[in-house]
Amino acid sequence: MRERLVIVGNGMATTRLVEELVARRYEGDITVLGDEPGPAYNRILLSAVLEGTHPVDGLTLRHPEWYAGQGVDLRLGSRVLEIEREVGDVMLVDGTKILFDKVVLATGAIPTLPPIRGLVQPDGQLHPKVHAFRSLADCERLVAALPDARRAVVVGGGLLGLQVARALSVRGVQTEVVEGTEHLLSQQVDRRGGTVLKRDLRKLGTEVYTGARAVRMTDGGVKLDNGYELTADLVVLTAGGRPSTALARRAGLQVRRGVVVGDQLQSVTDERVFAIGDCAEYDGKVTGFVPPAWEQASVLAAHLTGEESRYAGTRQVARLRATGLEVAVLGDPEHTQGEVVEVTNPIVGTHRKLVVDGNVIVAAVMIGDLARVGLITQLFDRRTILGDNEPGELLMAERPDGDSSTLLPDEAEVCACAGVAAGRLRACRTVEEAREKTRATTGCGGCASVVRELIEAAHLPT
Ligand SMILES: Cc1cc2nc3c(=O)[nH]c(=O)nc-3n(C[C@H](O)[C@H](O)[C@H](O)COP(=O)(O)OP(=O)(O)OC[C@H]3O[C@@H](n4cnc5c(N)ncnc54)[C@H](O)[C@@H]3O)c2cc1C
Repeated sequence: MRERLVIVGNGMATTRLVEELVARRYEGDITVLGDEPGPAYNRILLSAVLEGTHPVDGLTLRHPEWYAGQGVDLRLGSRVLEIEREVGDVMLVDGTKILFDKVVLATGAIPTLPPIRGLVQPDGQLHPKVHAFRSLADCERLVAALPDARRAVVVGGGLLGLQVARALSVRGVQTEVVEGTEHLLSQQVDRRGGTVLKRDLRKLGTEVYTGARAVRMTDGGVKLDNGYELTADLVVLTAGGRPSTALARRAGLQVRRGVVVGDQLQSVTDERVFAIGDCAEYDGKVTGFVPPAWEQASVLAAHLTGEESRYAGTRQVARLRATGLEVAVLGDPEHTQGEVVEVTNPIVGTHRKLVVDGNVIVAAVMIGDLARVGLITQLFDRRTILGDNEPGELLMAERPDGDSSTLLPDEAEVCACAGVAAGRLRACRTVEEAREKTRATTGCGGCASVVRELIEAAHLPT
């Protein structure tokens, strides 16, 4: 009998998993159950839709016809209520039961609701001014509220908060950011980097309150614990998320922060159950970014099609997608041991920092100037041993003239989300071909200009 594979959740990790299973000619029957009403979309680009720089209909990753053409049973608007492991089925909210031999959890994450009095109304709904920002429905609701909004408060000054704040400003809404820790982006950058960012944001017209917490909704907006009251027509919650694990917990699977998995992405409790993406916890870590979700999907697809393949963790590369703010973070600069080489220029709004261990770059931060991000990423990826002066020179160097991306060697990784190197891109004749064959540019899109430059340079008439 053909293996029955049921995938719960139809987000970015699942799309990648199904693509890879199809490419590897998986021989079982695949059913995808997604609770959102429409097809899977690129969640990363929601802030660009909010900003008005990306059309909403350009978000779709794969249309339902594609699944049908591949023989995949895609069920939209299908929320899974229970996994009944002893029977080997999943039950939808409408009572429908679907049998599985193997089941994959790819249920993503849920926005955290900060403890603000009045945030949730007695009927359980969010206060009408309050918006979460995780799904397309959240984004559409927020976009619909923009015409009547003059002032907004964004609660949470992490990567998502800064993207949302910039998007609202670009739309002409006077925006203020409230961050509970002492500086912006405190998970990724140090106080100096956070201070540069705060200054950059202020220059762009966004006020920032750090070390302050929103504590109460008021008639006019929101009250902070430092006594300030901020006027707001919109309050957007970007104070982090947590893995969506309720289903796994109820099914008796081991869950810490995420669903605990081993190196074949299988639950440590039941080897018929797998978890990938934001809901999974591997080696004590949950991720929350697309590159690990896609790498896990690839490893799992290989495993499900009988190939020996193991997951060993993913290095983190985070890029901010926001007009006028440039930030890239490689690895975990705040928690990685090493010697720190840094250059901060608050006047022009740049901060560059390398964490170096044994002359190898083990983490890095770039704020305000990403001219060297390609080269530094390449050195970080390859664990290149640098000369004693090189880290300093890398940070002191002027912006390279002209187009440095076309000089990248073939092995240099260009698309961190899909793990695509320059050589594979040069082999494509158009950006569309590269997108289809390698999936480069379909994640955060931060590599789009480099991809275009590489392809154009490789096919210049001689
Ligand atoms: C606005 C925004 C910007 C972001 N920017 C970046 C970025 O620049 N770079 C980056 O790397 N990452 C970014 N991320 C994070 C990135 O989107 C996630 O890491 C990625 O989507 C994880 O994929 P996933 O499939 O695990 O989860 P998701 O894409 O969230 O998909 C999970 C799906 O499962 C569904 N689901 C949950 N429970 C059930 C159930 N019981 N039954 C059926 N379906 C269910 C959910 O509704 C959802 O559709 C961003 C996220 C947001 C919200």
